[in-house]
Amino acid sequence: MNFNERDVAFAGKLIRDGELVGFPTETVYGLGANALDTDAVKKTYAAKGRPIDNPLIVHIYDKSQIAEIASEINDFAVKVIKSVMPAPITIVLPKRDAISGVITAGLPSVAIRMPQSEEARRFLRAAGVPVTAPSANISGRPSPTTWQRVREDMDGKIAAVLCGAPCMVGIESTVLDLSRETPIILRPGAVSAEFLTSLLGVPVTVLNNPTSKVNSPGIRYKHYAPNVPMVLELDDNVEKLCDFYDLKVREGYNPVLWVKETARFGNRNLCEMGNDDASAAAALYETMRTLEKQYDFIVASFCWRKGSSYDGAESQGVLDRLMRACAHNVI
Ligand code: AMP
Ligand code: MG
Repeated sequence: MNFNERDVAFAGKLIRDGELVGFPTETVYGLGANALDTDAVKKTYAAKGRPIDNPLIVHIYDKSQIAEIASEINDFAVKVIKSVMPAPITIVLPKRDAISGVITAGLPSVAIRMPQSEEARRFLRAAGVPVTAPSANISGRPSPTTWQRVREDMDGKIAAVLCGAPCMVGIESTVLDLSRETPIILRPGAVSAEFLTSLLGVPVTVLNNPTSKVNSPGIRYKHYAPNVPMVLELDDNVEKLCDFYDLKVREGYNPVLWVKETARFGNRNLCEMGNDDASAAAALYETMRTLEKQYDFIVASFCWRKGSSYDGAESQGVLDRLMRACAHNVI
């Protein structure tokens, strides 16, 4: 469906009728269902092949909806709602009874997000109900950041996709848990820990920093992954990258080096990751989906150091997604 008034209104009706609709947001494309209709929400898990123990985020178009979804809005939440939302951030709060355990995977809390994207809010307003929306991809695959990628995964499984703009941020929202005594980031995204620390006046950290031992191979499952093997290098070591690439060539692969500066790698298959963290994030998933079609082994490099071009808000998020995409196979 095109992004015009008539089609947006129709997409809203499809949601109220219990159907699934793909729609644009500033982070990634979402797969919307009526949060007040448990059967509709259940269809989301089936369409994606998503494990039922992975809870869904409830999307809103107006801050007044939060009081209908959350049973308690503490002082931290008031601050975030007032001065950050709408933004690529999701807050977790204690849930009201009206919110089904099917949405929250049985948890007593619920995740709520108000997208910054005007297109997203127009669609949500047309639906007129809170809308659950995970990313509109088959579970485990890279999230879609264009409507074409939604169609690639979801054609025939959902009622419609609203063809809006490509996603500006490109990685999923920061998930901030405000249902515990101290705020904690469950998933890094474009709204950084540093920013939230200064806003809330208490230290806000990321649960299981992606490079820490807790996230070692075997503990975490593969996620956001391309369908060809991928490894990650974290030191910007040109020699190591070239040696690994050349080894894969000798093993019969047609690999690609996915790196920040392609000039240093000679006559090998190359792809640029983006010159700063925001552009790396914006192109991340789209590039994974392009590379998996052209090559059969991805050798990625991401170097996050203070003072490098990757040290800003999205870097933590990009590193987290890359670590999961390669299932923690760091060379
Ligand atoms: P996705 O829909 O794939 O963007 O992922 C939604 C993510 O939000 C989940 O994987 C959780 O990390 C987080 N989330 C959703 N609901 C809750 C909740 N009630 N408590 C904690 N985290 C949640
Ligand atoms: Mg997802």
